[in-house]
Amino acid sequence: VSTEELLLSRIRDVADHPIPGVTFKDITPLLADPEAFAALTGALAELCVRYGATKIVGLEARGFILAAPVAVTAKLGFVPVRKAGKLPGATLSQAYELEYGTAEIEVHAEDLATGDRVMVIDDVLATGGTAEASLELIRRAGAEVAGVAVLMELGFLGGRARLEPALRGAPLDAL
Ligand code: IMP
Repeated sequence: VSTEELLLSRIRDVADHPIPGVTFKDITPLLADPEAFAALTGALAELCVRYGATKIVGLEARGFILAAPVAVTAKLGFVPVRKAGKLPGATLSQAYELEYGTAEIEVHAEDLATGDRVMVIDDVLATGGTAEASLELIRRAGAEVAGVAVLMELGFLGGRARLEPALRGAPLDAL
């Protein structure tokens, strides 16, 4: 089987989670399968190398699980982007719109600097709001965006179109 088929076969649809009417894409079967997990992190690491990344940003929380092994494989540093209020040091914050209300993410200001080329890793691109805010943070820190790579893109939510302007030509890959 191809990597794409292997990964797809290990993603579970959970109906009505976290709220009625939503089908949640659950990646825990993939994480529990060493062959699939290695195929995923290997493919993501390859993209990081291809796009000349010098740092990996992981988006809380499932993005951390993927970005950490990718950083080790690609021999690059890992930088967490967290929900507001979790990081202990001096942070940059970025608020963004959700369907109902707003959310805020943060990064340690000292973790990113001018000259860094940053690859953003997450499990799922849904509306694109989280990824868009992370690109904002990276640029405000003075760093450059190498690209965004996710396991899957929920195409019907239009995340790619929302993210397009913020990418400024940088690649968005969904495995
Ligand atoms: P967005 O900001 O709407 O693109 O939402 C993306 C964030 O929500 C990512 O950090 C994902 O981890 C999470 N997310 C949204 N939908 C799903 C899903 O079906 N499965 C797993 N994570 C999801």
